[in-house]
Amino acid sequence: MMGRLEEDAAKLFYEFSLDKMVPADHLVRKIDRFLDFDDIRAHLKPFYSHTGRPSVDPELMCRMLIVGYCYGIRSERRLCEEVHLNLAYRWFCKLGIEDRVPNHSTFSKARHGRFRESDLFRKLFEQVVFSCMSEGLVKGEGFAVDASMIRADASEDHAVEAGEPIDWSDPKIASRPVTEYLDAIDQDGAPRKKISLTDPTARWTAAIGGQARFTWATNYLLDVETSVIVDVEPTPAYRKAEVEAAKIMIDRTEDRFGLKPRRLMGDAAYGSAEMLGWMVDEKQIEPHVALFETPGAPTTNFTIKDFQYHEDRDVFTCPAGKELRQFWRNYKTPRSGISKDNRRMYRSRNTDCAVCPLKSNCCPSAPFRKVSRSIYEHARDKVKRLRGTHEYEQSRRDRKKVEMSFAHLKCQHRFRRLRLRGPTGANDEFLLAATTQNLRKLAKYATKPSATLQNAA
Ligand code: SF4
Repeated sequence: MMGRLEEDAAKLFYEFSLDKMVPADHLVRKIDRFLDFDDIRAHLKPFYSHTGRPSVDPELMCRMLIVGYCYGIRSERRLCEEVHLNLAYRWFCKLGIEDRVPNHSTFSKARHGRFRESDLFRKLFEQVVFSCMSEGLVKGEGFAVDASMIRADASEDHAVEAGEPIDWSDPKIASRPVTEYLDAIDQDGAPRKKISLTDPTARWTAAIGGQARFTWATNYLLDVETSVIVDVEPTPAYRKAEVEAAKIMIDRTEDRFGLKPRRLMGDAAYGSAEMLGWMVDEKQIEPHVALFETPGAPTTNFTIKDFQYHEDRDVFTCPAGKELRQFWRNYKTPRSGISKDNRRMYRSRNTDCAVCPLKSNCCPSAPFRKVSRSIYEHARDKVKRLRGTHEYEQSRRDRKKVEMSFAHLKCQHRFRRLRLRGPTGANDEFLLAATTQNLRKLAKYATKPSATLQNAA
């Protein structure tokens, strides 16, 4: 009997090392070595002084969120439970076996509270990109850009048709996302069909062949070398906003990391003449982008393709060999001749067309023919010259890496729907998701030695 008592007592007093419990090849151990919160603490210092002691340490909050986004734990309540129960998650969050995990409501308040204005998640994202750069995962030669729609946390039951009067001051709908929407309403002039009362900035959009829903778009700028995301930006899901986001990300990447790609890859959404002009003229970036073409109605008449432009003389020639010019006489005050949509209009002479045998196929109901040319057409011409080259074909394949990154986001990270609302919520969530995707890349490719078990003999 005595022997048994001693055995039971020994089991009650044992040494426990959390560090030894986490396998050396566990993902959390692999990504932990790239996280350094010293800079982030320094960045947050001014925010501590105004707000006092935070209820949840910002490092703990970030580490818990990284666990959540890495393992697709989308609920804050479940995340707190998982960190409480899972030893590897505890180790990663620097919590001892007896340390208390924050209650989910305290955690939620901390997440949405005092550190939001500090741009903490942008700082964390950038620190991870710097780690990717120092590990040689970012080449900076070719970037690909794309956007993916993510369902907003907004039900269609709490929405109104566009044009219906809405009393935004109604306390029933007043919220942070509504305030953010009203603050930015002048910048968002694109037409819309429905407006959500819970997240009014989200767009009522449908993917091709899909059902319409309220959505946001996450925009990625990705280095095609190892698919590291070098920048991320939230936008409402419509093309113009996504193109503007691409410009913002390229400028910001140059500013923050000193990275400017030699070539930029993108689909036809980024292939408007204006966007191509920006890439070529302002940024000196080679546009490996599909051209944005608006299909005209089928016609037997001549189209712009039947007219040849001569850059040296700045004239078109028509199928009958006659010139189309911008001006047929000299004006006392020179005119720019550029329309509001940045195009120049060229026209033929009435006298040429009146006797032309091709008139019925050219301008049957007008005395002369007009064709227009974008002031950025030279940038479109550059794409036309690149098309079919080996490098352009390679870029078409490389471009798919952004789509792959979005597929991983939705499948591996289970990020199919936002849990936070408004531009700030989308910004926080997209930044954290991209940060964890980059941390996984570091865990996979980086050569930095793994942290050794502290208590290993
Ligand atoms: S109708 Fe005028 S513009 Fe058209 S092909 Fe004839 S001359 Fe040229």
